Amino acid sequence: MSFDYDLFVIGGGSGGVRAARVAAQGGAKVALAEEDRYGGTCVIRGCVPKKLMVFASEYPGHIEDAKAYGWKIEAGAFDWDAFKTRLHTELDRLEGVYRNLLKNSGVDTYDARATLDDAHTVKLSTGESFSAKHILLATGGRPVRPDLPGADEGLVSNDIFHLETLPKSMLIIGGGYIACEFAGILNGLGVEVTQFYRGAQILRGFDEEARGLIADEMIAAGIHLHLGTDIKRVEKTGDGYKVTGTNGTEHTFEKIFFATGRTPNTDGMGLEEVGVKLGRKGEVVVDEYSQTSVPSIYAIGDVTDRVNLTPVAIREGMAFVETVFKGNPTPVDHELIPTAIFTQPEFGTVGLSEEDAAEQEPIEVYATSFKPMQQAFAGRSDRVLMKLIVSKETRKVLGCHIVAPGAGEMIQLAGIAVKMGATKEDFDRTVAVHPTMSEEIVTMREPARTG
Ligand code: NDP
Repeated sequence: MSFDYDLFVIGGGSGGVRAARVAAQGGAKVALAEEDRYGGTCVIRGCVPKKLMVFASEYPGHIEDAKAYGWKIEAGAFDWDAFKTRLHTELDRLEGVYRNLLKNSGVDTYDARATLDDAHTVKLSTGESFSAKHILLATGGRPVRPDLPGADEGLVSNDIFHLETLPKSMLIIGGGYIACEFAGILNGLGVEVTQFYRGAQILRGFDEEARGLIADEMIAAGIHLHLGTDIKRVEKTGDGYKVTGTNGTEHTFEKIFFATGRTPNTDGMGLEEVGVKLGRKGEVVVDEYSQTSVPSIYAIGDVTDRVNLTPVAIREGMAFVETVFKGNPTPVDHELIPTAIFTQPEFGTVGLSEEDAAEQEPIEVYATSFKPMQQAFAGRSDRVLMKLIVSKETRKVLGCHIVAPGAGEMIQLAGIAVKMGATKEDFDRTVAVHPTMSEEIVTMREPARTG
């Protein structure tokens, strides 16, 4: 049977574009459909604009520090319009890069919504229909608001990059990556930030000591963090929104931002109709090769709700091409993924938290918390944390957790050693780079505790 395409990719985000490009470069005839902007969540409404906003938000602190270092300068006002214009110019440029990557690899692109007609047929909103030997779902996810009265009044992360003006006050609901990152960003940009999280501590699932330090530092930076707090209703008032807490208290804010999680984009695509099995959250269920319950259809990235991170989606895309187009079945390795959360302070982490490791086997915990030189000199009281979780039996480093300026950069490198199975003694044998913060990761001699 002959098909219009060897591969039809639905979704032009990081995962879909990479898979389309690599398959086409290998000689496959490839098409890709995207209903919105090329680059997807990461480039257009996630990692990239978020990180640029992190940079923007850190300048008041840098200016204060510069004064302590002898510079005679004063911070002026933040010009949101000027920043937003540059931000969107940069995102337009990056979208162009993504389009060109596809074009230069010989991928046919369709700016249209795609749905499935059968196991080998993609139907576009333009009315066109194409057959494909393989279909790859890479449609990502989207933010969700909780199901409560007035929730539609609240913003979600997509909206933050398009605000007309920065509000004077904002309530952020949630305690995950997005809530905590934007709490720091908006606080740095001068917004009075209140954060409500329903649980006992932000960043559930990560190392407790690290979460505790991040929460303390966020509070010290001026964020009004309320734990064990949730809302039951939102009402529009004259100049803002009134929220009623589950404990009955009422507060008014100029804006409300729901950072209450994301959901896979699988609605109305005809997936279940053609036999693609979906999970409880609407995610596409796949095996270790990213194959769905329909053999010709694969899925990668956030739509599968495995590990929802850009580099993981890219890895899954590469493994898919290797498996399907290069005859080299490659399962995706989801073990020991290093990651950074761009809270202020930044958090870099790989492997098991102290709590999870202790449940698994006897461990030693090496940890140090101190004031870093650069900030201490400027009179700041910020603390950093360096922490290693070590297996008593194998001596392997099971987890590494860093809360510090630049922790994302540090954990990328520490992640290599941890992924290679380095032992505590391997860390110890490595000479310190002095004077740095990260040297502490190779100079911790005595366990702080065992478990
Ligand atoms: P998360 O799932 O991480 O966090 C959602 C938060 O909202 C949790 O604190 C959750 O509470 C809370 N919540 C959920 N439902 C409700 C509700 N009905 N009422 C009140 N609170 C609620 O989602 P995010 O949106 O923050 O991020 C999504 C994913 O995107 C992340 O998991 C991550 O994979 C990725 N991401 C990665 C980044 C990075 O790498 N730096 C940055 C941003 C996103 P509870 O804990 O109690 O469930």
